[in-house]
Amino acid sequence: MPSLSRLRKIVQDVSSAATLDETLRLIAEQAKDVMSVDVCSIYLKDTEGQDMVLTFTDGLDQSAIGRVRMPIGDGLVGHIAKHQQLLNTDDAIRHPNFHYFPETNEDDYHAFLGAPIVHYREVVGVLVVQQREIRQFDEEDEAFLVTMAAQLSGTLGHAMNSGKVSALLKRGKKANTYVDGIVGSSGVGIGKVALAGGNICFKDVEEVCALDQQAELQDFDRALGSVRRELDAGYQQMADTPGDVQAIFEAYRMILDSDDLQQTVRDKIDDGLVAPAALKLVIEEHASIFEAMDDPYFQARGEDIRNIGLRVLRYLIEPNAVPAQYEQPIILVGDIVSVSDIAEIPAEKLAGIVCQQGSSLSHTAILAGALGVPAVMGVGELPQRKLSGQSAILDGYRGRVHFQPSSALMAEYIRLARQEDEFDRSLDKIRDLPAETLDGSRISLLVNTGLLADISPGLEKGAEGIGLYRTEIPFMIHDSFPSEQMQFQTYRKVLEEFHPRPVTMRTLDIGGDKPLPYFPVEEDNPYLGWRGIRFTLDHPEIFSGQLRALLRASEGLDNLRIMLPMVSSVEEVDSFLEILDNKLQVLADEGVKVKRPPIGIMVEVPSTMFLLDFLAPKLDFLSIGTNDLTQYLLAVDRNNDQVARLFSRLHPAVLRALAMICKQSDELGLECCLCGELAADPVAVVLLMGLGLDSLSMNAHSLPRMKHVIRSFTQKEAKQLLERSLAMSSEGEIRSMLNQVLEERGLGGLIRSGV
Ligand code: PEP
Ligand code: MG
Repeated sequence: MPSLSRLRKIVQDVSSAATLDETLRLIAEQAKDVMSVDVCSIYLKDTEGQDMVLTFTDGLDQSAIGRVRMPIGDGLVGHIAKHQQLLNTDDAIRHPNFHYFPETNEDDYHAFLGAPIVHYREVVGVLVVQQREIRQFDEEDEAFLVTMAAQLSGTLGHAMNSGKVSALLKRGKKANTYVDGIVGSSGVGIGKVALAGGNICFKDVEEVCALDQQAELQDFDRALGSVRRELDAGYQQMADTPGDVQAIFEAYRMILDSDDLQQTVRDKIDDGLVAPAALKLVIEEHASIFEAMDDPYFQARGEDIRNIGLRVLRYLIEPNAVPAQYEQPIILVGDIVSVSDIAEIPAEKLAGIVCQQGSSLSHTAILAGALGVPAVMGVGELPQRKLSGQSAILDGYRGRVHFQPSSALMAEYIRLARQEDEFDRSLDKIRDLPAETLDGSRISLLVNTGLLADISPGLEKGAEGIGLYRTEIPFMIHDSFPSEQMQFQTYRKVLEEFHPRPVTMRTLDIGGDKPLPYFPVEEDNPYLGWRGIRFTLDHPEIFSGQLRALLRASEGLDNLRIMLPMVSSVEEVDSFLEILDNKLQVLADEGVKVKRPPIGIMVEVPSTMFLLDFLAPKLDFLSIGTNDLTQYLLAVDRNNDQVARLFSRLHPAVLRALAMICKQSDELGLECCLCGELAADPVAVVLLMGLGLDSLSMNAHSLPRMKHVIRSFTQKEAKQLLERSLAMSSEGEIRSMLNQVLEERGLGGLIRSGV
């Protein structure tokens, strides 16, 4: 067994390998060296998940690579894969499961030690060492191989995700390859891949010296001018998408016009570099400072810097570049995809967005959602140039992108997309009808928003009001705390647009996954930390500005409702009410006539479920935030992809919690809404109807579909389905029962599963 420091070094080297081939080679080399064996081979599961295929070997005949295949359960490797456990034998040939492959000349080798490579409970490969002599590997050898296999599992899992393994196994054969990422915006998109910012990347820029520094400086200035014009054109194109989207463009302009950034490039040109190389160094330097931060918001700003850098680079390399002509639907793929990349493509031609990096928090995801364009984020490295021009399918329900799909898969998704379009169009006829069950029970359907840009879809889809306006989003896309006046203008516009419909504005809910770039907070456990009402009560100067802006904005309109996020105790509500009364009084003294708005809280921290009787006399309404309530009930971080499979929206415990809250709010006479993502899940909506909620709030695009589901059932049926579900012990059981019911009702097409 190597020393701990040697092991650590190996792990470090392996995890920093640039390609899968290099990773496999490093592992094999190290294992051979440390264990003094003759052979180290790596078998990987093929794309169909049937066979283990010899993918790399240091010691066996190279011609066997790709040719030796062992079905799971067959041979020693298949045996390890099937049983997911180590196999250690001093003489492989005598083992009952031994299977001889003449290609490998394996009969020369006796000692055999193999460890499964397991990623998220699934065997993705097998790591094997062999030796000519008969030898019993000891415990330390086993421990080392298991460590190596575990090390390989993360890298392999990631690589398999990005399709590299399938490419490796198929050796160039055309394949149905898909990658998985994070849902940025739901929906299905089909089109040809176009690369964001063209085919240009910094990797290809060489650090060469300039012959004529003056000319390089001029080129740099010209490129800056071209990008500036491009951003302005994009800004104009987005003119119909008001307010905050244009603020994003302004943020890009700020980066482009940053004196510091420009001057450092000029200094490097003065030092003798060509403009592209100077730009590359500066962009790398600036972006990596942001990317090294733990905070996802700052990391996203690193993306913005790189993107602007690439745009400048493009004009340095191709001074006369013109925006491409897009004749067919486009799936825009990029390491990062910027707002201006999006703006370059006519809206009707943009079928989807795929980002190698980024999260559901990035500007791109926010904008994609507001525009109703499906998006998948954080898919990991892609062979972008190879993909350019290929056909692709983006399944924004699953967070999956299929490249080079087979004609059968394509046909199926085309059918699905058409069906979706037709279906959505057919729902126009219920736009002005109420969300009412077949036996006349009504529920209000409201929208969740946070950007001015997504106000109009809500109205177009027949929303009866705003159930959740996330005020933190405007805070997040500014570069400092917005002033009271700035906030007033935003809130006033929203209240006016929706008037006389009610608008529930939630007070600032920063913290957790929503940090502010200009107010960094270091916490080990941000979701259990300084979030929502905890932060605002501790910062009365900030809270005061927001409350005054909200109250002033409602003058003469009276459709404002105020909601508090992350409440976990009665004292928090008391403290808030005291501040509110004070603000109302001060405003009255200033001559601003504002009615006291209805006050509610989010029920999203489990403790509030048990305090409703104390809270009821102080409040007018509740809104259940199932995103956080689920996270806290199940102890599953909502943004952590390692545990994403455990984030079970219809977990029996969640359902029982919802039933308990609804029963109590009914008994206490408190109006109750639900505004988490669950409200946009067609399977869940039947149960939410059964719970007797007063309203559901969701993204505008889902609203007509949920209305359709509600109009397809009686309240009596919904209640019976709820009763049956409450008696079930797993989400799987609940979903399969409800899926079947929806199928029988002709609503099967609504079940979110892609193909
Ligand atoms: C929720 O937690 O369910 C919710 C609607 O709020 P957010 O997603 O903004 O935390
Ligand atoms: Mg929440």
